[in-house]
Amino acid sequence: MPRLERVCVYAGSSPGARPRYREAAEELARVLVERGIGVVYGGGRVGLMGVLADAALAAGGEVVGVIPRSLVAKEVGHAGLTELRVVDSMHERKASMAALASAFVALPGGIGTLEELVEVYTWTQLGLHDKPCALLDAGGYYRHLVAFLDHAVAERFLRQEHRDLLVVADRPADLIERLERFEPPRLEKWIDRGSA
Ligand code: AMP
Repeated sequence: MPRLERVCVYAGSSPGARPRYREAAEELARVLVERGIGVVYGGGRVGLMGVLADAALAAGGEVVGVIPRSLVAKEVGHAGLTELRVVDSMHERKASMAALASAFVALPGGIGTLEELVEVYTWTQLGLHDKPCALLDAGGYYRHLVAFLDHAVAERFLRQEHRDLLVVADRPADLIERLERFEPPRLEKWIDRGSA
């Protein structure tokens, strides 16, 4: 039995400008299925979310979607999933996705993708769970975000150890191997507490 039973993947509801992003979603899906790891995602059939789900299903994988009723009503829920869980709100969706998964990966995406990944990364930082989080930096899409996090470390708003909790890789196989090896550190959240 793999140590990672299910991975939650956040991804853009748009396909993005480059074929590299779609290819990354397809490759991630294949790597997860090959390793017997289930996929949890936002349940849509649009953008990279849809690419990911279709590729995982085509490879014979288990795909659970969690979608708020309001988005199903707009007829964007994926009809062919192993399971589609319909929930009442975005908050319920995020809590449910987080509970189902033992690790989190962000493919390229927009604000929705970022917000979801940053929320679970915050929970790891605070020790509310000990699940690893990762950016799939396909085509260097996340390089400015990674540079910003290093800036936050340099400016003493983020501990280096917390920065290092976020796995960044450009190849899905490398990324999943690193998630499987992840050991959660026990750290204080606070930095320079009490100083002016
Ligand atoms: P973004 O990265 O801004 O494209 O946002 C991705 C997020 O948009 C998803 O995780 C959802 O919260 C939301 N979203 C937009 N369209 C859909 C859809 N068709 N199905 C599910 N979620 C969607």
